[in-house]
Amino acid sequence: MAVGGREGGGRAGGYDVAVVGGGLVGASIAWGLARLGQRVAVIDEGDVAFRASRGNFALVWVQSKGLGMPEYAAWTRRSSEGWDALASALREETGIDVAFDRPGGFNLALGEAELENRVAQLKRLHNQPDMVRYDYEVMDRAQVAAMLPHIGPDVIGATYCALDGHVNSLRLFRALHLGMQRLGAAYLPNRTVDRIEPRPGGGFAIATPAGTVEAAKVVLAAGIGNATLGPMVGLTVPVRPQRGQILVTERTAPFLRHPIVTVRQTDEGTVMMGDSQEEAGFDPTVGTPILSVMAERAMRMFPLIGRLNVVRTWAALRVMTRDGFPIYEQSAACPGAFVATCHSGVTLAANHALVLPRHVVDGHLPADVFEVFGAGRFDVPAAA
Ligand SMILES: Cc1cc2nc3c(=O)[nH]c(=O)nc-3n(C[C@H](O)[C@H](O)[C@H](O)COP(=O)(O)OP(=O)(O)OC[C@H]3O[C@@H](n4cnc5c(N)ncnc54)[C@H](O)[C@@H]3O)c2cc1C
Repeated sequence: MAVGGREGGGRAGGYDVAVVGGGLVGASIAWGLARLGQRVAVIDEGDVAFRASRGNFALVWVQSKGLGMPEYAAWTRRSSEGWDALASALREETGIDVAFDRPGGFNLALGEAELENRVAQLKRLHNQPDMVRYDYEVMDRAQVAAMLPHIGPDVIGATYCALDGHVNSLRLFRALHLGMQRLGAAYLPNRTVDRIEPRPGGGFAIATPAGTVEAAKVVLAAGIGNATLGPMVGLTVPVRPQRGQILVTERTAPFLRHPIVTVRQTDEGTVMMGDSQEEAGFDPTVGTPILSVMAERAMRMFPLIGRLNVVRTWAALRVMTRDGFPIYEQSAACPGAFVATCHSGVTLAANHALVLPRHVVDGHLPADVFEVFGAGRFDVPAAA
C-alpha cells in the first residue's frame, strides 16, 4: 500500500474497530469482535517486535492469582472456566487443536519454608473480603507422590488447585490469527502505529508509515507498546517489560500430565522449565546463571529431567504493571478508544475472546467488572 494511503476495509467510514497489536491479547479480542460481526483491522508492528505471545510458558493458571485485588482472582477464574468453550470454538472454526487441558496444577515445595510461605500466601489470598470461592489443597509428600509418581526426594509437599491447566500457546496464537482472518478481519503486519488522531465527528485515524487506517473504535492491545500509544487517546498505561527465561528439552515419553508452576510437559512431549522474573529493561538475552538455577530446581522436582538434552532456551518480555494486575479502560477523553493489557494473556484469552468484545461493541465497560482495572488506581497522591 502506498505511503499516505487510507485503509478502511472497503467500507465508508472505515473499520468498525481497529485493534493495535496482533499478539495474544489483540488477536483474542479481534477474533471475538469478528465473531460478533464487526469489521476488524489488526495493525501490528510485525515479527521484529518484542512479543510476549511467542515466548510464554503457556499455563492457564488460577491458584495464587489476585492477592491485593480479589476481583482479579474472579476475572482469572472466569477465564479458566471459559477456556473449554474457547478451545472448542477454535477447533471448530480453524481445525486447530490448541491442546487445552485442565487436569489441575501443582506448586511443588522443595523444603518446609517454601511450603509454609505458599500456604500463608494462599490463606491471605482467600481471606480477602469479596474473594471468589474455589478450593485448593495443601498436600504432603505422599499425597503428591500418589498423583506425580516421578517426584524427587527433595519434594516435601505442594499446593494443588483443580482449576489450573495449560495449553499449546503457539498453536493458540496461530488459531486466533487464522480464525479472525477467516471471519474477515484484516491483519495488517509491518505497520508500526506512530500516531492516533481522534476525529472531530467521532472515530479515529491511525497512522502508520504504510498508510492510515480509519476506524470507529480503537482497542490498544500493543503490549509494552501501549505505554506510548495510550497518551495519544488520553489513556495512561504504565507498563514495563519484565524478562522471563525458559528452557525446553528434547521430547520424552509422557511422565507429567499435571502442569507445575515452573515445569510442564507439553502435548508434544518436550519439557519446559521456567520462568524467571527479571527487571532487565528491554534486554531479551538469556544467561546461564538464571537458566542453571531453574534447571537445577526442575531436576530436584523430577530427577529424570537430568537425563534429557536441552534443545532450546529463550527469553521474552512480560507486559507488567506496577501492581501486576491488568488494565482495561475506555478513554474518558476519547470515547471509543479502549486499552487491554495484562501479564497473563494465555490464561485470560477466554475472557478477551468471549467477554470483552461484547462490551467494546456496546461501547461501555460495565463498572461492576472493569472499574477496578482502570489505570486511575495508580494515581495515588505522594505521601506528605
Ligand atoms: C516468559 C514468559 C512466560 C509467560 N508465561 C505465561 C503463562 O504461563 N500463562 C499466561 O497466561 N501468560 C504468560 N505470559 C504472558 C503472556 O505471554 C502475555 O500476557 C501475552 O502474550 C501478552 O500479549 P500481548 O498481546 O499483550 O503482548 P505481545 O505479545 O507483546 O504483543 C504486542 C503486540 O503489539 C505490537 N505492537 C507494539 N507496539 C506497536 C505499535 N506501535 N504499532 C503496532 N503494533 C505494535 C507488537 O508487534 C506485538 O505483536 C508469559 C510471558 C512471558 C514473557
